[in-house]
Amino acid sequence: MSRRPDITFPLAPGATIGILGGGQLGRMLSLAAARLGFDVMILTPEKNAPASRVAARTLVAAYDDPAALDKLAKACAVITFEFENVPAAALERLAARGALTAPNAKALAVSQDRLVEKTFLNGAGLPTVGFTAVDREADLVAALKRLGAPLLLKSRRGGYDGKGQIWVRRASEAADALAAIGGGPAIAETPADFRRELAIIGARGRDGEIALYPLTESHHENGILRRTTAPARGAEKAFAEAERIAATLLTALDYVGVVGVELFERDDGRLLVNEFAPRVHNTGHWTLDGCDVDQFEQHIRAVAGWPLGPTRAERAVEMINLLGDEANAWAKFAAEAESRLWLYGKTSATPGRKMGHVNKLTRSNSG
Ligand code: AMP
Repeated sequence: MSRRPDITFPLAPGATIGILGGGQLGRMLSLAAARLGFDVMILTPEKNAPASRVAARTLVAAYDDPAALDKLAKACAVITFEFENVPAAALERLAARGALTAPNAKALAVSQDRLVEKTFLNGAGLPTVGFTAVDREADLVAALKRLGAPLLLKSRRGGYDGKGQIWVRRASEAADALAAIGGGPAIAETPADFRRELAIIGARGRDGEIALYPLTESHHENGILRRTTAPARGAEKAFAEAERIAATLLTALDYVGVVGVELFERDDGRLLVNEFAPRVHNTGHWTLDGCDVDQFEQHIRAVAGWPLGPTRAERAVEMINLLGDEANAWAKFAAEAESRLWLYGKTSATPGRKMGHVNKLTRSNSG
């Protein structure tokens, strides 16, 4: 079925925007959409999800539930995602019902598989670490010979926050390493040898307009983002290169919406792309208080076919994730004049779970 003829862009307020996923990203997208006069319909398997409590409507069902997808397709002018591991069958069902998704199915498919992603990036002229496919032990042994040691072995699909990856130093470790990440299909990567990790949030509108936020510095602990410093310091040269990377990627994917691109900065200043997320991203939470138009509003503007908003850093921000029981200190953060507190409404605070974040306004931005 072709697209519904009754839907035209720019979308007028009053239309319903669908979001697959009900976590904090969906919650902040819903807030932004509501501010612009849109209703949001969430599809999530979780009851009482963070996004459901601010969205107009929620369908509680599996992501590939045909009846729920049909309802979503019927009600929504456009459907977007707050996480990338949406099953391909769900996208096919939505497309078959004439629903329009943004970003497109290709961007999601590329980002879901690390091997496909790095191959795509290189094909678009964007630099990554060296890598090779590993389906079985013999592939990993051959990779150690060809690419050298150590190699970082990662699951091709599904891993996040540093899960599903392990360093391999010698051939005798190959079988155990592969078993530790749950077997193949996997990818083996050469070490990035980075001096710091950077990230850039970009957006592309329906008309191909591109807007890029300033480059930021990411600080990880145990594979989880702890802090973002925004804008990154001393990064003028890197910023030009990051802009080229983000703009090239957005155009190559014929992308509509916000993308988060994670980068490695090497000692010689060269940038490598680690990965991209086809959605709003944790490294962009600083924009909520650092920019006139934050990444969530920007995404809604893009998918609704509205003009993109300004991306300049009006303020420097240090974004700190509140993990597990750290969010219990909400009263302390609320009392700090320089802190802007964002809480996600999650009821159980398991260790490492992202419960909220604080944007600390660190200094006025002169740049
Ligand atoms: P990923 O899940 O691929 O984003 O990786 C999570 C984290 O692991 C990154 O933020 C880096 O800190 C680290 N990492 C990933 N790939 C490499 C690599 N090829 N070399 C060194 N460190 C890496």
